[in-house]
Amino acid sequence: MSEAPQHGNLIDGEWVPARSGRTFASVSPADREDVVGVFPRSAADDVADAVAAARRAAPVWRATPQPARGDLLRRAADLLRGRKEDLARLMTREMGKVLVEARGDVQEAIDMADYIAGEGRRPFGETVPSELTDKVCFTWREPVGVVGLITPWNFPVAIPSWKLFPALLAGNAIVLKPAEDTPLCAARLVEVLVEAGLPPGVVNVVHGIGEEAGAALVDHPDVRMLSFTGSAEVGRLVAARGGQQLKRVSLELGGKNAIVVLDDGDLDLALDGAVWAAFGTTGQRCTAASRMIVHRRVLDDFTDQLRGRAESLRVGNGLDEGVEVGPIVNDRQLRRVHSYTEVGVGEGARLVTGGAVLDAGDLGRGHFYAPTIFADVRPTMRIAQEEIFGPTVSIIAAESLDEAIAHANSTAYGLSLSIYTRDVNRAFRAMRELQAGIVYVNAPTIGAEIQLPFGGIKGTGNGHREAGTTAVEEFSERKSVYVDYSGRLQRAQIDTT
Ligand code: NAD
Repeated sequence: MSEAPQHGNLIDGEWVPARSGRTFASVSPADREDVVGVFPRSAADDVADAVAAARRAAPVWRATPQPARGDLLRRAADLLRGRKEDLARLMTREMGKVLVEARGDVQEAIDMADYIAGEGRRPFGETVPSELTDKVCFTWREPVGVVGLITPWNFPVAIPSWKLFPALLAGNAIVLKPAEDTPLCAARLVEVLVEAGLPPGVVNVVHGIGEEAGAALVDHPDVRMLSFTGSAEVGRLVAARGGQQLKRVSLELGGKNAIVVLDDGDLDLALDGAVWAAFGTTGQRCTAASRMIVHRRVLDDFTDQLRGRAESLRVGNGLDEGVEVGPIVNDRQLRRVHSYTEVGVGEGARLVTGGAVLDAGDLGRGHFYAPTIFADVRPTMRIAQEEIFGPTVSIIAAESLDEAIAHANSTAYGLSLSIYTRDVNRAFRAMRELQAGIVYVNAPTIGAEIQLPFGGIKGTGNGHREAGTTAVEEFSERKSVYVDYSGRLQRAQIDTT
């Protein structure tokens, strides 16, 4: 481990070790012997340093005109474009997703930088009439202050960018605690901002373990807002602890997304979508489709064909261009995914294919799992209700559109749902009835674009949306301003006769 490159926290523009000197390693999921880097294992004192640096930098950044803040993001977009391939390769090595998807992850950050840079010159306020004469009423936006960002490993560049760029444009100072499985991806992204000209202290990065550095950031009284993407379990903790201090808390949590395939749908198209949404990113997407709800008339055909396609997928190191399914992010996740196979078998579901750790040859160097399909799954089974976050999919039969929608809506989550049908009436009914923040018609549950709001309902979050027109709103406060130029006391709501 000592030969692996050492990296620091970014505090006040300097890359520094943890005060304790403690470290942790980032290891490639495709090869346990490949140590990507060694990072500070930060604690509350490091977080306090970072928050203090952000507080000092906040007034200058807040006073920087918003178009100038946007210009910085435009420079960041250009730098990212030039580094797309390097960053993608690093991501595949550090997180595991196959190269073509890693390029897409970086592209999402580029898109977000371009989009948010443009927001720099967009008016955000409202001007409305007053009920009184010689009086104007308008709103403008202000930064929240010091914002804490906590991010997961599955989109190691895209998700930090979804938070960093709009939060910066809104004028906030930031402390980022990236996932401990992908610290180098986050550091490289922030380096781009520094090179683009970000003043010291405006973005600080504190690496470390969730229960230590993450919890300290959640608890720090000078952090006015928390934006968290991760599991529902940790999200609840963040909301409860942040809520104690009346912080603004924005949560993007898990999903148990489904593809509904009706008997009038294009089966080949549905299968293409099912394979991409279930096994892409090895099922490790918050929007991954882990349930297929299939009309009884096409159930056997769909199940057979999905099995054939799953069995032909090439699993391996994502740096190899021919590989379609990369590793599971770490050993703990691998064991969790496998434990759900045991749960499914125990519940009486029929294991159609997969269900095994893959460790033959080079696969034994990392954490690989076979694409796994369960059939005869009842919607109430745990494998149909709980987020597995791996390449495991449950096929559930439905007799009608109504039953399919009821099954789709039957979990605690509400992120992304999709339907395949050629009947426009059924499609519109589904758009209205499916309980999710994102609905797709004749497309799989993954594939969100940055110019639309992103987020879920029910157990997937707490009502916030990232990206789209809501991106900057999430990170800013509205101020309502009244200017009375009548020269006399005018009283709203008070009868004058
Ligand atoms: P996780 O909840 O384990 O960790 C997320 C982050 O929280 C990490 O940085 C971690 O260090 C930190 N953390 C852990 N414990 C903490 C604590 N007590 N206090 C503060 N911070 C803490 O999630 P993960 O395994 O990194 O990511 C997978 C999860 O993320 C899945 O549930 C997935 O659905 C979800 N996710 C959601 C979205 C979305 O937009 N809805 C997007 C991607 C991933």
